[in-house]
Amino acid sequence: MLNNGACRCSRGGACGPRSETEAPLSDNAARYVTIQKDPASFAVPPNLADYRAVCATFNWEAARAGLSGLPHGRGLNIAYEAVDRHAYGPRADRVALRCISKTGERRDVTYRELAASTNRFANGLRSLGVKAEDGVFVLLGRVPELYIAVLGALKMKCVVTPLFSAFGPEPIATRMEIGDARVLVTTEALYRRKVEALRGRLPKLEWVILVNAEEDGEGTRSWRKLTQAASDAFEIAPTDPQDTALLHFTSGTTGRPKGVIHVHEAVVTHYATGLYALDLHDNDRFWCTADPGWVTGTSYGVIAPLTHGVTNIVVEAEFDAPTWYGVLARERVTVWYTAPTAIRMMMKLGADALKDYDLSALRFAASVGEPLNAEAVVWGAEAFGLPFHDNWWQTETGGIMIANFASMDIKPGSMGRPLPGIEAGIVRRKADGGVEMVNTDQEGELALKSGWPSMMRGYLHEEARYRKCFAGEWYLTGDLARCDSDGYFWFVGRADDVIKSSGHLIGPFEVESALMEHPAVAEAAVIGKPDPIAGEIVKAFIALKLGFESSEPMRKELLGHARKRLGAAVAPKEIEFRANLPKTRSGKIMRRLLKARELGLPEGDLSTLESDER
Ligand code: AMP
Repeated sequence: MLNNGACRCSRGGACGPRSETEAPLSDNAARYVTIQKDPASFAVPPNLADYRAVCATFNWEAARAGLSGLPHGRGLNIAYEAVDRHAYGPRADRVALRCISKTGERRDVTYRELAASTNRFANGLRSLGVKAEDGVFVLLGRVPELYIAVLGALKMKCVVTPLFSAFGPEPIATRMEIGDARVLVTTEALYRRKVEALRGRLPKLEWVILVNAEEDGEGTRSWRKLTQAASDAFEIAPTDPQDTALLHFTSGTTGRPKGVIHVHEAVVTHYATGLYALDLHDNDRFWCTADPGWVTGTSYGVIAPLTHGVTNIVVEAEFDAPTWYGVLARERVTVWYTAPTAIRMMMKLGADALKDYDLSALRFAASVGEPLNAEAVVWGAEAFGLPFHDNWWQTETGGIMIANFASMDIKPGSMGRPLPGIEAGIVRRKADGGVEMVNTDQEGELALKSGWPSMMRGYLHEEARYRKCFAGEWYLTGDLARCDSDGYFWFVGRADDVIKSSGHLIGPFEVESALMEHPAVAEAAVIGKPDPIAGEIVKAFIALKLGFESSEPMRKELLGHARKRLGAAVAPKEIEFRANLPKTRSGKIMRRLLKARELGLPEGDLSTLESDER
């Protein structure tokens, strides 16, 4: 490491805890001084040099001018902006994707090659009779075919869903059912292990394309044969910016996962936030560590960097410090977008683990997905020579909404300030369905004024659930936060019971349903239990049916059952048996009470409590 642990921000390595004598900052930043940025020290001038000035003049119409639009005014298509506009211009031979396999092999795909391969895949889909608006699901690890399939299907104007390949069969089948999947792109192994047995639940699934199958099989097609037979020329049909492009899934407290609808116009936000929040410049080598099975991995692991024509580094391997540090150093990564859980794992290993790596190319580091503790921001400054810039958004918003910008002073622990073009507020819901703003530094629900291009257009087949997210023109995020007098936003917690584990949003209902399928389980309730590394882990409370015993083998069996059904990322890590679970008079299990007891917190209003385990 070249920077000797010295911070490259303007404080000259003084980003540590505040001294006793300094004036207190509000709450969770109290122990840390603001990390000030000195414009003279920027290696590359930030795109957003003057936050206030840009906010004052910004409008989304003008932001769209950074994109090309389909030739001859035929609309706006994400894949054209990400691929074709570079493929036939001066960036044609630039590496668009540098894919590093689990065994460390590199596969480079230039913009020109990406245009040809996405065209072939789009033609392949067309040869199968696939049409615009058909649901195309992609269940792959981070291999080149994932990116080709997503972008090729967008060229065909299909509705695309990348799925997390570590999901178990149940979350996969549920999402494909809700999303009316007509096509699935996957591997032979993933198909056999996770989908084949549940295909009966998916009557609309017509085509299964296997990327590593040499030949077509029973009910499956070979990617190789399909794409080899296809032309590498493809003209994208006129695309209305309001045409649906992507269907991402997210979870709520109750009910099945929600299919979040995003349209092609979202690419305007992807581009603008790539410019301002991630500070992308031409010639950057950008690495987003998120999997495209989650919205961050699609918006910023596929679309945003490609719209900027930079080289997008794709790493197939999961987190492992030497692998990641090796990628940062060898690939000369300039802009890095990662997540708090990974940062905390690196912190645990200590800054010393970095000393043999040359990270001098790294210019900007950002983080998203869960609260980034102030210590982690400061540790970034010590270990990498630059602080992590936290930013906030969610599946529904489609792109970054609140961020610490490259040019902006950082208050460690804060999510930053709203993007130009985004109006954020802290509100309290009123009984009449409206909202009122709360005062500076007061807690309330984080709300955003509707109207940015990547805002969700609905939850698929769930109009009522969608409408509940709004109070007039305010979109209510479900997150509790506060805003300080400088306009910085601070995350407080979720207003609902969803769990964030290692950055993955997990709906308790989905986990409880899988547990309930086990013949021994009478009742199940799932909470997020705080964890120093993962943020939260999934913990299940279970009441067994009569005749079953709460033994260690039973616990193991239930853990195994859940892992098999849900996949390791979603399944509970802990199970505790209870004789029965606390319920309201209407029979709803009180997860909140279980959580309060687990954490030793006040139990709150128990007036609706009907039965209890104690
Ligand atoms: P998802 O829709 O899976 O991207 O999850 C969105 C949720 O993750 C948000 O509503 C927050 O609860 C949480 N989240 C995302 N970014 C942050 C952040 N920077 N700080 C705290 N929580 C975050």
